[in-house]
Amino acid sequence: VYLAGAGPGDPELLTLRALRLLESCDVILPDDLVSDEVLALADGPGRVRPAIVVPVGKRCGQPRITQAGIHELMLLHAGAGRSVLRLKSGDPLVFGRASEEIAALTEAGIRFEIVPGITAAFAVAAALKTPLTDRGAASKLIFATAHHAAAKEGAGGGGLELTPKWEGAFPRDATLVVYMPGRRFGMLAEELRAAGIAGETPCVAVSKASTREERVTRTTLAGLGGMEAEAVGEAPVILMIGWAIRAGS
Ligand code: SAH
Repeated sequence: VYLAGAGPGDPELLTLRALRLLESCDVILPDDLVSDEVLALADGPGRVRPAIVVPVGKRCGQPRITQAGIHELMLLHAGAGRSVLRLKSGDPLVFGRASEEIAALTEAGIRFEIVPGITAAFAVAAALKTPLTDRGAASKLIFATAHHAAAKEGAGGGGLELTPKWEGAFPRDATLVVYMPGRRFGMLAEELRAAGIAGETPCVAVSKASTREERVTRTTLAGLGGMEAEAVGEAPVILMIGWAIRAGS
């Protein structure tokens, strides 16, 4: 089994390793954020036998496949001697529930390899031509999510909290990238300001980066707090906050 990153969507940003696996693996299990353009490469000139492609994303309107269901599929095909490409958007080890899949494979004694990919943060920064670190403005880069683990969702009064919780002040010289920011921007901004991020700190929200519907909203942390999630466009949305975020072009 290959746990591989498909990058942000543009096939040009695949690794050669991912491309070769797309052309050669018997079974492909892609997440729903993996673009059609990337999946089309599975039929490339290197392919000998057609691949079995089973989308395992959790798209609205389609029956939801559980994480356990994904594990079952991986183990079933690998157990039958097939090579399996478990393809995740971006990098497979960044907010991709990889730990659960690694545990399932390890427990079943199935050999696996991890193939890194370009994570959304890097693709978005490149598209905006904005640095994530800057000698004068940001010496730290923090990837966070505002999304709860499902188990916590109903329990804690429904509050949106950052994971991990900040202990003490947020470093002023950091760029914060928020994956899966959720829809409650007011609460998110409030928490970040409570952690010490100034309201005037630059903030950019990018919806559907690297697609034709890409939408960029430039604001400040205070501005974000006053915004409805709808105002920045459809999911997937990523937020970047910090003084290294430049106007770009
Ligand atoms: N493993 C992936 C992240 C999966 S979590 C990676 O390394 O990129 C899914 C989150 O990634 C989304 O909620 C969003 O915050 C971000 N994301 C992925 N693709 C995106 C895109 N094209 N545009 C904006 N954000 C994106």
